Amino acid sequence: MPAAGVVRLTLLEPSIMITTQVCIIGAGPAGTTAALQLNKEGIDCVLVDKAVFPRDKVCGDGLSGKVLTCLKKIDPAVAGRLKQAGFKLNSWGVSFIAPNRRELEVGYRPDFNAQDERHKEVPIGYVCKRLDFDHFLVEEVKQCPHVQVYEGLAIDQYILEDDGYRVSDGKDFTVRAAVLIIANGAHSAFTKKVAGIHMEPRHYIAGLRAYYKNVEGTHAQNFIELHFLKDLLPGYFWIFPLPNGEANVGVGMLSEAVHRKKVNLKKELLHIVTHDPVFKERFKNARLEGPIEGYGLPLGSKKRKLSGERYLLTGDAAFLIDPFTGEGIGNAMNSGRLAAQQAARAIAANDYSAAGLALYDAEIERVFGAELRLSTRLQKLVRYPRLFNLLINISARNKKVQELLSCMFYEVDLRKKLTKPSFYIGLLLNK
Ligand SMILES: Cc1cc2nc3c(=O)[nH]c(=O)nc-3n(C[C@H](O)[C@H](O)[C@H](O)COP(=O)(O)OP(=O)(O)OC[C@H]3O[C@@H](n4cnc5c(N)ncnc54)[C@H](O)[C@@H]3O)c2cc1C
Repeated sequence: MPAAGVVRLTLLEPSIMITTQVCIIGAGPAGTTAALQLNKEGIDCVLVDKAVFPRDKVCGDGLSGKVLTCLKKIDPAVAGRLKQAGFKLNSWGVSFIAPNRRELEVGYRPDFNAQDERHKEVPIGYVCKRLDFDHFLVEEVKQCPHVQVYEGLAIDQYILEDDGYRVSDGKDFTVRAAVLIIANGAHSAFTKKVAGIHMEPRHYIAGLRAYYKNVEGTHAQNFIELHFLKDLLPGYFWIFPLPNGEANVGVGMLSEAVHRKKVNLKKELLHIVTHDPVFKERFKNARLEGPIEGYGLPLGSKKRKLSGERYLLTGDAAFLIDPFTGEGIGNAMNSGRLAAQQAARAIAANDYSAAGLALYDAEIERVFGAELRLSTRLQKLVRYPRLFNLLINISARNKKVQELLSCMFYEVDLRKKLTKPSFYIGLLLNK
């Protein structure tokens, strides 16, 4: 018997038509989190993905503290099961390495102290392959009584009718729903065609990911490493340690710079690991496993309208990736949660108008606005290596700056901190 909420494709009738309250397109972190939240609200929904899970997703595989914080808010039991899962490596923070190779270590918890035994026991970040993490989330959703999960179906038709959206795979699968949560990632056709949001090279990163075995010199507390190498600006080279001696290694660069400088990112990645004086040593016994693959990162460096009549955009389909760190999973999950809450309000008020759903945009601004603007400024600064060197030098001595960076990975709502005068006083006085 399939678990509650699961419909196996093999059991489907030749043609299927479902009527539900909410249809979520895409079962990545944004879509699954939206489904978990809707289930908590007691709202029936359909979650549909073109892939069959477990499926890979090109990513750095770094999960910051935001992931656990978000899951805890929805269901501490799910967060608990993630904590116990064996497929991930515990990670305690991030190392930023400036073009002059000066390093700034920032713990995922603002008060991280490597000497404190209690902190060593409680990691709040992880590195784990998306193949495993996304599968974990989908399996959690399959236990939800209010959610029906459909896999292996690519939705490519969206028709707005008087009483809701009718979406279909263009063949024999159709869902009618009062409201849509769009969570189908960076290449979302809905985002382009209906919401009118297009890829802009100044607000988009081109990224490449490789898996290596036996990279040496990784951090004792499994900090993820972001190396802002001079030739890669604005962008970085990363090494994120994984379980079993593996590491996720990659490069990301602003698409506008990739085109302008005619950079071949794959050649760049291979050049770094074989010729850079630091990395050729660390990679001397390393082995590339599998292909090097690329995907886009739609950045939240520009404010956009993320809702309209009967729809809400989430995650990469909403261009919400942090422009400085490239972190998108935590933002995808938090936007999925906010979208589900907004859908619940719309159902309660029977108001699916663009004006009614615009409350979601206000929530996104409240939760992400300050942080995305700060990250956009940092990303601009990274274009000037000397300024960025200076920032890292100052930050290495200033506890308040470290705390701020830490909060970017831990809390979602930086707004509270950024509106406290005491924070700025501390920043100036270096306290
Ligand atoms: C190279 C690279 C490195 C990155 N590194 C990190 C990192 O280390 N940490 C981090 O936090 N973020 C990272 N990101 C960003 C992160 O991968 C994304 O922000 C995150 O996956 C967004 O989640 P999502 O649910 O919005 O979209 P996705 O994870 O892309 O999920 C979208 C889902 O929609 C499905 N779908 C697509 N089209 C359809 C359709 N027509 N019908 C039905 N289903 C459909 C897909 O199969 C997929 O399952 C990285 C991104 C890249 C490209």
